[in-house]
Amino acid sequence: MKKLSLILIRLILLSPYFSNAQTQFLQICTYGEDNKGAEICTKLQLKSFKSSIEAQNAVDRILEPTGLKSNFVLVPCDGINNCAALVYVGLRYIIYDNAFMEKVADIANTDWTNLGILAHEIGHHLLGHTLMKTNNSDTRRDELEADEWSGFALNKIGATLEQAQAAINSLWHPACDEEINYDHPCKQKRLDSIKKGWEKAKGQKSNTNINNSIYATDPAGKTYKTVNIGSQVWMAENLAYKTSSGCWAPKNDESNVTIFGYLYNWETAQNICPIGWHLPSDAEWTILLNFLGGEEFAASKLKESGTAHWQNNNFGSNTTGFTALPAGLFDNNITQSHTMGRFAYWWTSTENKNNKSGYFCISIDDIIGHPGLGSASKDLGLSIRCIKD
Ligand SMILES: [Zn+2]
Repeated sequence: MKKLSLILIRLILLSPYFSNAQTQFLQICTYGEDNKGAEICTKLQLKSFKSSIEAQNAVDRILEPTGLKSNFVLVPCDGINNCAALVYVGLRYIIYDNAFMEKVADIANTDWTNLGILAHEIGHHLLGHTLMKTNNSDTRRDELEADEWSGFALNKIGATLEQAQAAINSLWHPACDEEINYDHPCKQKRLDSIKKGWEKAKGQKSNTNINNSIYATDPAGKTYKTVNIGSQVWMAENLAYKTSSGCWAPKNDESNVTIFGYLYNWETAQNICPIGWHLPSDAEWTILLNFLGGEEFAASKLKESGTAHWQNNNFGSNTTGFTALPAGLFDNNITQSHTMGRFAYWWTSTENKNNKSGYFCISIDDIIGHPGLGSASKDLGLSIRCIKD
């Protein structure tokens, strides 16, 4: 990754001790059992690494909701069978082996272990852990602090407690009455620390943006919750008002409407928002996207958390209260709607030149979600979120 390489080059140039201090590295933490590979990787690969975009994205995701800046460099190290935090010549690093990360994810059967392990190592650095402790009890204390931080961070990006604890649950640990002989705490203490951090973040979440004084009311009298996001007020639910035409239940099943609302064609969408509300334009969706940190960060803040309605792994944290739901779309040409559970699409009011209109889309096929504007045929059925005039 270009940006990361540039950072490393700058750090190397700024460090006068780099060339003659080959042995000055201090292991803070090794997540796996084997820590011998770390030194080798540090010495041999440090000057030429390229961090994978996926790993860097994962670090960005963990840090973003905390508002904290990275104080370390991320280094891939194939073959070390580990993920570790270390300080080398006064600089902080996290080194990781992709195969090790995948192995833990396979054991736990969830990708959340990758984020849990990275968050733990990030925690060591942000908490200022520095030295390889000379006694096991100090080391174990640092481990529990890093675990607590990882629980906090994973809650912030939408993990359930079980998902936040998945990595620890997949790895061997000493029994609690034998941990005195080890530099890592027993499993139960680590799970408890993660829970402590996770609960702390949960407490902070009670400050939602839900607006308790403004509701939107459709022509049938149904009221909708609303949220304040930046300078805008949005409906916090998809519109669920049945019109005489141009309106479909997701998957043609009326029982889906309660959760997902109806899907509308573009013509119908133009004049259906409640009085005092309107269909948002491309520009208004862009304001929302930019306010939430752009394409890289907006989706998780908008998406409902958990997997009750989103399929697969869902990194939605719903910190905005917007509660984006994957109603999919209706396509008359293939006789029914599809992508329910995987994609959310909403119409914009903006019409583009080739007689298609705009839509805003969030997908969950990857970590980021890629929310953004696109265009679609006007006869498709998409969801509607209205914005206050
Ligand atoms: Zn650790």
